[in-house]
Amino acid sequence: MISVEQALEKILEHIEVLETEESPILGCLGQVLAEDVSSDINIPPMDNSAMDGYALRSADTRGASRQSPRFLRVIDTAAAGSISRFEVEPGTAIRIMTGAPIPGGADCVVRFEDTDETERQGTSSEIGILAEAEPGLEIRRAGEDIAAGSIVLSKGTVLRPAEVGVLASLGRTKVMVIRRPVVAILATGDEVVDIALPLPEGKIYNSNSYSVAALVLRYGGIPKILGIASDIEDSLVARLHLGLDADMLITSGGVSFGDYDIVRDVLAKEGEIVFWRVRQKPGRPLAFGMIKALGKAGGVGNIPLFGLAGNPVSAMINFELFARPAMLKMMGKKSLTKPTVEAVMEDAIENTDGRRIFARAVVEKRGGRYFARLTGPQGSGVLTSMALANGLVIVPEDKPGVKEGDLVQVMMLDWSEEVG
Ligand code: AMP
Ligand code: MG
Repeated sequence: MISVEQALEKILEHIEVLETEESPILGCLGQVLAEDVSSDINIPPMDNSAMDGYALRSADTRGASRQSPRFLRVIDTAAAGSISRFEVEPGTAIRIMTGAPIPGGADCVVRFEDTDETERQGTSSEIGILAEAEPGLEIRRAGEDIAAGSIVLSKGTVLRPAEVGVLASLGRTKVMVIRRPVVAILATGDEVVDIALPLPEGKIYNSNSYSVAALVLRYGGIPKILGIASDIEDSLVARLHLGLDADMLITSGGVSFGDYDIVRDVLAKEGEIVFWRVRQKPGRPLAFGMIKALGKAGGVGNIPLFGLAGNPVSAMINFELFARPAMLKMMGKKSLTKPTVEAVMEDAIENTDGRRIFARAVVEKRGGRYFARLTGPQGSGVLTSMALANGLVIVPEDKPGVKEGDLVQVMMLDWSEEVG
């Protein structure tokens, strides 16, 4: 049976980066930029005031202090967004708001706090300057943030809110990105029922399609729910064919040793099995392969298929460990692993059969250290153990277990990405 690392390596060998597309900037959050973005304009576009105050000639402030103010004549008020028609001559000043262009003749701005503005309440035709000012004081220079012609965001950058803002500041409405993968999700099992229907005796609701679809959304993909296939091969094949236009196929259930576990047979007939079973707990019965499909160009293409275990916890953990990095690779991302922290274990975990254990845990930070305790019953069908957890404690396959007080690695479920 292969290890978690070997499984991931085999998966990634079969995954290719998707094509690029042009997309509105707000739709691109979390996507990878597919072009170098340069600026046609200076930002800020012109020298402007960093403060509410008075634009004036610094030479006019020589010797100014609270005890001996220098009085200047106020000739205009410049609001942000408009350019004053007046020129600042010696002995004059223009009242100016933050962001307003610096008027001709002025070489600095003295903020209101260093004038007698408050005593005059802004209505006077004169202003007293209470401090000396150097040329350039409180002026934001044109191009200080971004110089016209420079590359602002380079190809390969992951677009976060700050990058979306930078694109907007350049006046870009659309940008080239690597497109999001469409992930088709199929539940299997005669016992599994659509969540919108009444629940007959002996049946369970289809939770896997929804937890998996939510994971697809969380990591930036587009889920396409294909419904539920019964445990008959024809039913599975027919449903699977509905997903052949997707970039990835995910099934849940039907990959164990049971009488009705037909996913592997179908995978072998419709494509090729790359591996089955991984030395881990939960989630051992993972199948991965490539399904034959008509490629976008009309030729034969291959779509990766993840046959996740049916148990709800196993399905989610196998998604996080294997389908997530595959999706991220498709999206052109370089950082594929989830962040881990080192924590002090507050419970014991036994490892009886040499598999890597991923135990659901609550991680807390106390006094600068992380502590991890189990969420309770760890059965792979106990989905609430995932709902309570913020991390997965990793017990290596070559260890008989961990004891209270041991240091362990914990994969954090809610931290988005490893740095670097
Ligand atoms: P299987 O691998 O098909 O034997 O399924 C293992 C366990 O997971 C069984 O208890 C199934 O009832 C359960 N299971 C399978 N598919 C789903 C699903 N879509 N939602 C919730 N539980 C499921
Ligand atoms: Mg089943």
